[in-house]
Amino acid sequence: MGFFKYFKNVFSGLWNLLVGLSVTSKYFLNFKAVTTQQYPEERLPLPARSRSMIKLIYDDEKDQFNCVACLMCAKACPNSCIKLEGVRQADGKRRMTTFKLDFSTCIFCGYCVEACGFDALTFVSEEYENSVYKRGSLLQDENAMKWIRPAQPASPEAATTEAAAPAVAGA
Ligand code: SF4
Ligand code: SF4
Repeated sequence: MGFFKYFKNVFSGLWNLLVGLSVTSKYFLNFKAVTTQQYPEERLPLPARSRSMIKLIYDDEKDQFNCVACLMCAKACPNSCIKLEGVRQADGKRRMTTFKLDFSTCIFCGYCVEACGFDALTFVSEEYENSVYKRGSLLQDENAMKWIRPAQPASPEAATTEAAAPAVAGA
């Protein structure tokens, strides 16, 4: 029994080695398909849901931040990275006046983004080169975090789907 198990393990190991080598050889011999990216000249787009930097969403039409200074993000932050202030305006609505996020202690957990019920905070995926020479530079204010959502291009597929969709009764 031990004798057969011994040879079974030997052949299993050899088989796994050959499978691994076949994968390596496939990439080694395929000279045309170069997978190495020449960063920073070549940059791959990051997945839309990647977490790079947190931004404060600015409504360009209303010419103001979406933030209403409800403090929910600051309360949700486990590292107390967020400090902000707000005022109540003449129309009775609260508006953020100052917003500071210390990225040197941020762990990018996303609790602040999740806690915000006013579409005022978001992760952006395109800003990932965040190295600085001075730690203090990682303390960003509302001006550094200002982000305007890019206009969505009209999708021909969406238009086709909408046109093809049956009308909902009673809608
Ligand atoms: S991502 Fe997490 S650690 Fe960073 S500011 Fe938001 S809640 Fe705080
Ligand atoms: S960013 Fe969102 S959660 Fe934080 S204070 Fe502003 S509105 Fe409230």
